[in-house]
Amino acid sequence: MSVRVRIAPSPTGDPHVGTAYIALFNLIFARHFQGKFILRIEDTDQSRSRPEYETNIFKALHWCGIEWDEGPDVGGPFGPYRQSERTDLYRKHAFELIEKGKAYKCFATPKELSDMRETAAVEGRRIGYDRRYRDLTQEEIKEREDAGQSYVVRLKMPLTGECVYEDAVKGRITCPWADVDDQVLLKSDGFPTYHLANVVDDRLMKISHVIRGDEWMTSTPKHIYLYEAFEWEAPIFMHMPLLLGKDGKKLSKRKNPTSIFYFRDSGYLPEALVNFLTLMGYSMQGEQEKYSLDEIIQSFDAKRIGVSGAFFDVQKLEWLNQKTLIESIPEDKLWERLQEWRFNPAFMQTLMPLAHTRIKTFGEFMQLCDFFFINDLKLTPEKLLPKDLVAETAANILQCVIWNLDAKEDWSGTALEPALHEIAEVFGVHFKKALIPLLFATIMGKQRGPPLFDSVTLLGKERTRVRLMQAIELLGSISNKKMDRLKKCWEKRDCREAI
Ligand code: GLU
Repeated sequence: MSVRVRIAPSPTGDPHVGTAYIALFNLIFARHFQGKFILRIEDTDQSRSRPEYETNIFKALHWCGIEWDEGPDVGGPFGPYRQSERTDLYRKHAFELIEKGKAYKCFATPKELSDMRETAAVEGRRIGYDRRYRDLTQEEIKEREDAGQSYVVRLKMPLTGECVYEDAVKGRITCPWADVDDQVLLKSDGFPTYHLANVVDDRLMKISHVIRGDEWMTSTPKHIYLYEAFEWEAPIFMHMPLLLGKDGKKLSKRKNPTSIFYFRDSGYLPEALVNFLTLMGYSMQGEQEKYSLDEIIQSFDAKRIGVSGAFFDVQKLEWLNQKTLIESIPEDKLWERLQEWRFNPAFMQTLMPLAHTRIKTFGEFMQLCDFFFINDLKLTPEKLLPKDLVAETAANILQCVIWNLDAKEDWSGTALEPALHEIAEVFGVHFKKALIPLLFATIMGKQRGPPLFDSVTLLGKERTRVRLMQAIELLGSISNKKMDRLKKCWEKRDCREAI
């Protein structure tokens, strides 16, 4: 069997370290077995997918040194590699399943669905949809269609028996079919769901092994049944252990730095990040911790993949980064690497307008602009808190800044300024006396510096987000319960009560 593996990221956000982590194992596997590594863009969620997120996935993976053999940007024999360009194919396949009696048209309205979910919750049933349209007669279907009722296509899951498969990492997995709902394959707008598009593409792209994070394991029985329904042979599944945050839960951008660009912009070495990410899911023989990508490709053995989740331990990454810096970058190359990072004319030029009228001597330049180059602002709650604010309010305010900019999908200083005005009003706090000092300290670690909004634009979304999160943590964090309450107040745009 020729090995063909793929990653299938959705371009719905910043390029996540988890994408690089899974990409690496696919790449390692493909190279070890002289196979092909494919990048497919899963952009069927029209409301959340953005072309710039796709470009950022390419950029971030390239920065990590990850290259693919086939993909939307490099082409290949099984294209197009972007799902939004393949929608006819999915429709065709969904209707093929209806013909075979393996799928059906479901006419449930949103109201019906929410009623069903409520009833299921009351009765303690796991599956919300009660399969009421599963066995309509041809006449009933025709009647509804003639009346112009819209429908989705659902997979007719078996009601008895078990799904059993051998996961190449986790071993034998079993799951009662009755626990799996009649998955929607085609939405009422004719767009496929992840499940249908993913399986059709893996088949048509001749994927031999599906190597993905174990958060997808709940989908796998649906996929296995889809292969069965189409009478196709399923690929081999390998579910990789999840990357975990400090709290032991899935690494999420709400609590941790997760964007690859954050690590790039904070001066981490791509080779160290790559080494670190592989270490999260794999143990080399002899517990060797520092190794090159080529070394792991050579010696790769699927049995050495970890079964349970791995903590994304930034201190360990830093240790590895330093080790890599010392051992892999000779002294006479260090300056070159620093220039590539930040000390290059393109970046330094962007700082000049900020510094021009604000330094008496060149010697003050670094003092003014230090926060662009350092990761640890050495903040204390005292330095962070303006006189008129208590820690809890300040943390809530910073959280609302994050929500506001996320909703706008704009993290530039131009977006921050109106956001802060709105927040000042919503919290009933003084813009100049409270918010501006709080933000200066959060972003720069000091009360004076270059203009705040321009600085935020240059610092970039990822580092700005992490600084806001770090400040919230320093102020004592926000418990999950309080976070829920705050979110509700924020949505109503009245946070006076939340404080
Ligand atoms: N589109 C899914 C993702 O965003 C793909 C999951 C899979 O590999 O099947 O990761």
